[in-house]
Amino acid sequence: MSKHLPTLGVMGGGQLARMLALAGVPLGAKFLVVDPSESACAGDVAPLFKAGWDDTEALAPFAERIDAATFDFENVPAATADWLSAHTNVAPGAKALAVAQDRLAEKTLFNEIGLPTAKFATVDTRQELEAAVARIGVPSILKTRRMGYDGKGQFRLRSDADIEAAWQALGEPAAKYGLILEAFVPFDREVSVVAVRGRDGEFRVWPLTQNWHRDGILSLSLAPAPQSEALLPKATAHAKTLAERLDYVGVFALELFVKDGQLLGNEMAPRVHNSGHWTIDGAYTSQFENHVRAVLGMPLGDTGVRGHSVMFNWIGQMPEAAPVLTETDAHWHDYGKSARPGRKVGHATVCAPDQATLAARMARIAKALDRLDQVAPALDVLDGED
Ligand code: AMP
Repeated sequence: MSKHLPTLGVMGGGQLARMLALAGVPLGAKFLVVDPSESACAGDVAPLFKAGWDDTEALAPFAERIDAATFDFENVPAATADWLSAHTNVAPGAKALAVAQDRLAEKTLFNEIGLPTAKFATVDTRQELEAAVARIGVPSILKTRRMGYDGKGQFRLRSDADIEAAWQALGEPAAKYGLILEAFVPFDREVSVVAVRGRDGEFRVWPLTQNWHRDGILSLSLAPAPQSEALLPKATAHAKTLAERLDYVGVFALELFVKDGQLLGNEMAPRVHNSGHWTIDGAYTSQFENHVRAVLGMPLGDTGVRGHSVMFNWIGQMPEAAPVLTETDAHWHDYGKSARPGRKVGHATVCAPDQATLAARMARIAKALDRLDQVAPALDVLDGED
């Protein structure tokens, strides 16, 4: 009799589902990926099941075929996640999704567990926006409470005169998703902690990653984040408390601002995260493999690193591959997506045994691709280490 391989269902067929399947197949797992689009890029590596997020009738045969379910996309409607939980083992669970889908619930929970955040206020009406700006001040950022990602659904207010423009931009989504006004944090740097919790409560983190964004989209990550030894225990403790409060199973990321040596919580992603992509090439066990292990109830793998890593995000279109393919310990990841402005279409990770070698390799690649501006802030940080 042939062995029964567990089938992991993934809600969402983007690059995260694609990399989960690439990491999970060697563990003996099969995948079935759901997406409303039949051209979803995970379909290149796993069977794709076409269905809408709220069409539980269409999703019924999917639920029949899987042994457990997880997400590549956290904005699956809560009703669908509840329905799926009644049919199979779903991780992360409804509690974690509900918190991570709503910036207000998320920041309220951060404060409850002792993780400070920027000052914030909810805004549902134009009048409330004026009151919130009077209370929080400027500069500040107005964001949709739900459905925002990669800087979408955000408006920066630089003075009181921007209130009208902010309401023009986000007044309409206010009715549907609610808004939150956050004080602008003049952070020294941004870091994230990517963590995993198993079904038995076992908890592990990868080293802190330092991140740089452009237009609200992750552009570059460096790991381990330079000079982060003092921050790691605090970030780990916050992530662990958060995971325990949410009965979390699987990988998640906690994005943090660092200001004067203190950590402020920005947001959590209840899934594998872009700032953890370097773990595929730079860690003993990648975030994707450990997520599959956690969801399927396997022992977690070692989150130790092989050295130093940098990840370049490719946004909009893929650059020329040769400068990465010909560099030592450099790794190319093309998601097989068509080009579109602002779209994450791939990444490259470059690893090295020490920071000086990493800096030389990343500078060589960036120069060949005419992208020195993308790596300049990271080169400055690495330069300061010597
Ligand atoms: P978010 O979608 O909330 O993670 O925002 C995307 C990026 O915008 C963050 O990674 C920061 O670079 C920037 N950002 C968001 N909120 C704030 C804030 N309150 N203060 C300063 N920068 C912010």
